[in-house]
Amino acid sequence: MKIGLRIDVDTFRGTREGVPALCRMLAEHGVSASFFFSVGPDNMGRKVWQLVRPGFLWKMLRTRASQLYGWDILLKGALWPGPLIGERLGDVIRSVSGAGHEVGLHAWDHHWWQTRAHRANSRIIQEDLKRGMDSLARITGHAPVSSAAPGWRCTERVIQEKARFSFLYNSDCRGESLFYPVVAGTAISQVQIPVTLPTYDEVIGRGHVRDDQYNAYLFSLLRPQRLNVLTIHAEVEGIGLRGMFEAFLRMSRSAGAQMVPLGRLLADDPEITPSRIVQREIEGRAGWVCCQASEGARP
Ligand SMILES: [Zn+2]
Repeated sequence: MKIGLRIDVDTFRGTREGVPALCRMLAEHGVSASFFFSVGPDNMGRKVWQLVRPGFLWKMLRTRASQLYGWDILLKGALWPGPLIGERLGDVIRSVSGAGHEVGLHAWDHHWWQTRAHRANSRIIQEDLKRGMDSLARITGHAPVSSAAPGWRCTERVIQEKARFSFLYNSDCRGESLFYPVVAGTAISQVQIPVTLPTYDEVIGRGHVRDDQYNAYLFSLLRPQRLNVLTIHAEVEGIGLRGMFEAFLRMSRSAGAQMVPLGRLLADDPEITPSRIVQREIEGRAGWVCCQASEGARP
């Protein structure tokens, strides 16, 4: 069984501390993964203003976000302009590429993408993608092979704009199987590799799984013979929950599962069918995420 391992890097601290720690851990276990970097300003602290929304406050308390992310992450960009991640931490990103992991684009400005991209016009979306692509290409010396929309905030317009770049694949949705996204009745030839498993904060946010049960729960969701794609965060599994994630690596290896970069899933020559995308709410996460429409997924 293969598990596609996707590592989202949202913040300055996640890049500086979480990424090198994860790289060391993955090297010890002989695992390669796909890293998706946010390279523009770290404005994630703007999220702190969402504290005035009761739903967000509740989620913060349930997931202990301040402990998970650290107050510096929650405040960054809220009171002063956020630092440009790619400019300051280019050497970290370069070392990930040099270690043989896949490097993809998460976003130029993660906070903007999560809150505004779905309402933006094509030109603005294109600008965010291009700034991110140019920055990553300057840092690593080559164009990123893939992209993954922050917060699974993706629309048909986003898919059309991404198709202008030469991505091997994108990972913008939740779903069940590899698919060609259908936009305005036409299948776009850029493959979507959807995430099949929930994230840590989604599971813990629901309140029925404790930390000490988490790895076993996650493992129970894996499906042999089917697509398995896991997202972890450099800010979470790379810092506060490093030990727990390393235990999951050991657990999956002893069960014969192999963690791979997402691009490797394409090498197996899988069946890829066309599918529409839809916006759906999922348990444990505020707001909608982009999902593969279920009629396109295999039963
Ligand atoms: Zn993210």
